[in-house]
Amino acid sequence: MTTRLPTGVSPQTAAVHAGEARYVAYHSLTVPIVQTATYTFENTDALIAYQEDKMFWDVPERVEYGRYGNPTVYAAEAKLAALEGAEDAILVSSGMAAITTTLLILLSQGDHFIITEDCYRRTRIFCNSFLARYGIDCTTVKPGDYDAMEAAIRPNTKLIFSESPTNPFLRCLDYPRLVDIAQRHNLKTVIDGTFGTPVNIRPLEFGIDLVVHSVTKYLAGHNDLLAGCVVGSFETTTALRQAQGVIGAVVDPHTAFLILRGLKTLGLRMAQHNANGLAIARFLEDHPKIRKVWYPGLVSHPDHSLAAASMTGFGGVVSFEVESDGPGASRFIDACRIPHIAPSLGGVESLIEQVYIVSYYDTAPEDRLALGIRDELVRLALGVEDTGDLIADLAQALERV
Ligand SMILES: *Cc1c(COP(=O)(O)O)cnc(C)c1O
Repeated sequence: MTTRLPTGVSPQTAAVHAGEARYVAYHSLTVPIVQTATYTFENTDALIAYQEDKMFWDVPERVEYGRYGNPTVYAAEAKLAALEGAEDAILVSSGMAAITTTLLILLSQGDHFIITEDCYRRTRIFCNSFLARYGIDCTTVKPGDYDAMEAAIRPNTKLIFSESPTNPFLRCLDYPRLVDIAQRHNLKTVIDGTFGTPVNIRPLEFGIDLVVHSVTKYLAGHNDLLAGCVVGSFETTTALRQAQGVIGAVVDPHTAFLILRGLKTLGLRMAQHNANGLAIARFLEDHPKIRKVWYPGLVSHPDHSLAAASMTGFGGVVSFEVESDGPGASRFIDACRIPHIAPSLGGVESLIEQVYIVSYYDTAPEDRLALGIRDELVRLALGVEDTGDLIADLAQALERV
């Protein structure tokens, strides 16, 4: 692939140019959508030559079938790898597919691993129910409790999986401490970096082995597709590619094109998400109708100093309790005119949700409370709208609490 991109460019420049060939078919500026299920060979000799050569390739020089690769997908993967400063990246059909495929290739029957309690709910379900059926054991520890994490390590422990920042309380990891524990016990580290994005923090630079993302969120950024990725060493992504060919959770070329397109504005969008997050967290913290706000950019957040030392921005998600009960929070949400009521985050449109109704409706109230999820807890995933307009809208809606 011919590229002229200088090394060491900023994330926004990499987001625009990295991963894309300088010259592509038909003199197109943008990466073409190679919308095909399979690929042709000129004759039988060409097919045999391909089969002979394939065994010696590090990187595929051509593709034979859609489940094993696609040129549009390769370009999006190369851009994601450049953004994280990784050797390689692999795109899969959703964030959950990224997490499940990664854990399936890194763990075997009889292995044990550790996750933190505030991981994405479906991740916890996969770890505690699915993997248990295959004889893979998991211990859940509280976020920020590194002594409990180290105490949970057994002779058969293989890896530590965590998120940072987490949902909904935006707890942030002490990466040097986590990496130190993992290295002393020879464990792999896997981080779900969805809430951070490579614009705000790049976990691989701290010595983390693998980062997974729900590309659905900030990376694609427009609330219009589902995808996931895993970034890290070439060795791991090669194993993941082989697994993907068998498991089949591939991303289609049109989705890859939308990811390429979305990534070009990642730096611009994150600047606005970060600015909205900080301004609105401050506005809410000072408001009499708000009891408590969780945002790593606020000095009151338990991980503020960690986050301030390691992140260049704190993202667009702000969680808070209104000074009321569940119905009071619902009245406030229903009175908002800009944010839509919807799950998810990271897109250009602001989304708002009452956490227990969206994510814990089937959970008993006492179990929700044990996780700190009160009925009046609201999660606001800020988009890229004008900060002043958002504040004015929240201010009028808070009158209804
Ligand atoms: C949304 C999300 C996921 C799941 O991603 P999908 O693309 O919806 O499968 C995983 N982890 C985090 C932190 C998320 O926010």
